[in-house]
Amino acid sequence: MKKLYVSTAVPYVNSSPHLGFALEIIQADVMARYHRLLGEEVFFLTGTDENSLKNIQAAEKEEISTKKLVDRNAKKFYELKKVLNLSFDDFIKTTEKRHIKGAQKLWLACKKDIYKKNYEGLYCVGCEEFYKENELENGLCPEHKVKPELVEEENYFFRLSKYQNELKKIIEQDKVKIIPQTRKNEVLSFINSGLQDFCISRSAERGHGWGISVPGDSSQIVWTWYDALSNYINALGYADNSKKFQEFWRKNDNKLHIIGKGILRFHGIYWIAMLLSAKLSLPNTIFVHGYLTSEGQKMSKSLGNVIDPFELVEKYRTDAVRYFLLREIPSAEDGDFTYEKFEQRYNSDLASGIGNLLARVRVMADGIGFKENNLKTVEPKIKETRKNYKKALEGFKFNEALKSIWDLISFCDKYIEKEKPWEKKENSPQVLGNLLIVLDNIAELLQPFLPETSDRIIKEIARDKKTGEFVNKKRGKLLFPKI
Ligand SMILES: [Zn+2]
Repeated sequence: MKKLYVSTAVPYVNSSPHLGFALEIIQADVMARYHRLLGEEVFFLTGTDENSLKNIQAAEKEEISTKKLVDRNAKKFYELKKVLNLSFDDFIKTTEKRHIKGAQKLWLACKKDIYKKNYEGLYCVGCEEFYKENELENGLCPEHKVKPELVEEENYFFRLSKYQNELKKIIEQDKVKIIPQTRKNEVLSFINSGLQDFCISRSAERGHGWGISVPGDSSQIVWTWYDALSNYINALGYADNSKKFQEFWRKNDNKLHIIGKGILRFHGIYWIAMLLSAKLSLPNTIFVHGYLTSEGQKMSKSLGNVIDPFELVEKYRTDAVRYFLLREIPSAEDGDFTYEKFEQRYNSDLASGIGNLLARVRVMADGIGFKENNLKTVEPKIKETRKNYKKALEGFKFNEALKSIWDLISFCDKYIEKEKPWEKKENSPQVLGNLLIVLDNIAELLQPFLPETSDRIIKEIARDKKTGEFVNKKRGKLLFPKI
């Protein structure tokens, strides 16, 4: 049976989840659901990165223990499952035993490429990364706009330089395919600028004793990225070389990471080199999405423009939030959230679009009756939609896949206006029969995107095989009442 392994990044848990992560995990959910519907065996993983210094700082601010902070916030990330209707199969916390064991095993498997040296560098805690002077903007971290701290220590290093040529080939030849092309080019230009060995540990003192000990050297803690990246194999049971690990990682050439553009270097370069060093198989695809802004600006607490996915779902319900993120944001680019845009999309596409179509067709079919025996007028359009939909999803263009479904919805609206079935003409029952068949298709295509809406459409228009009548005699409520 064909398999798909799909993962999201493991976010820091120094605060509760924001809408940008919701976008990522919904994108992963669509891929997981889509491939399950194709009959594939899917393993969909998400989780939380709990060993970073950021978490320690956040806990200090709140005057609670780091453990308490990460457990509390990780729980909120887990709660997204219900709130956003996600279908992940596993959720890994990097403070779990299975992760610690695996991270240490991976360290040992890379041992020939690990050495110790004295080091001085500029470290951004926000990024959990050392920067070179020339990578800073006016002396500040380009991501966080803060001055990195000067760190001088004896640390362990990973021999990344050794993998320069091999990595270049792997990325160039799409052995690890980075989508979109612009992100692939970014990785290649970083490789071409010359790869330097990178620091993969910190002193236990600088790490406040929080994190995973370097095997055989308790004075050092594994650098949080080096440990976090290994979550992707640890959840599958790398530590014990489990059957699941064999099936979904070693022998599976359909492994997909979905990440944000800010952490591309870690996944496209460091992670690949670590796997090469440990002689483990590589992911096949890395899909990189952009950032989500709020009213045109980066979401930040100080600007007060952070959008909370929990509040949004409470106000507009799950499928409306899923729809907006997947339809409005070009999947590989940056996108912007505003309440105005959200409500516009909601009213035009959901309330007046699919919601109205379903209600109209059902009401007319109840009053006029329907016959499903002449598909000629709608069949070519259904075929075209399926073709565009498949192509879009294979290229991770979630917005375009949805657009193809909505093209089919407006095709139906035009078909209704043209045929005017409410005038009860001779062919009206056939027109309505055709519309029901198109709605069957719409419900099926919507399933990975808006699972609840899809189920409701299926229920509303389910026909009894023997009698050919609606199974549910009583019509359901409107899918998306206007706001
Ligand atoms: Zn930074």
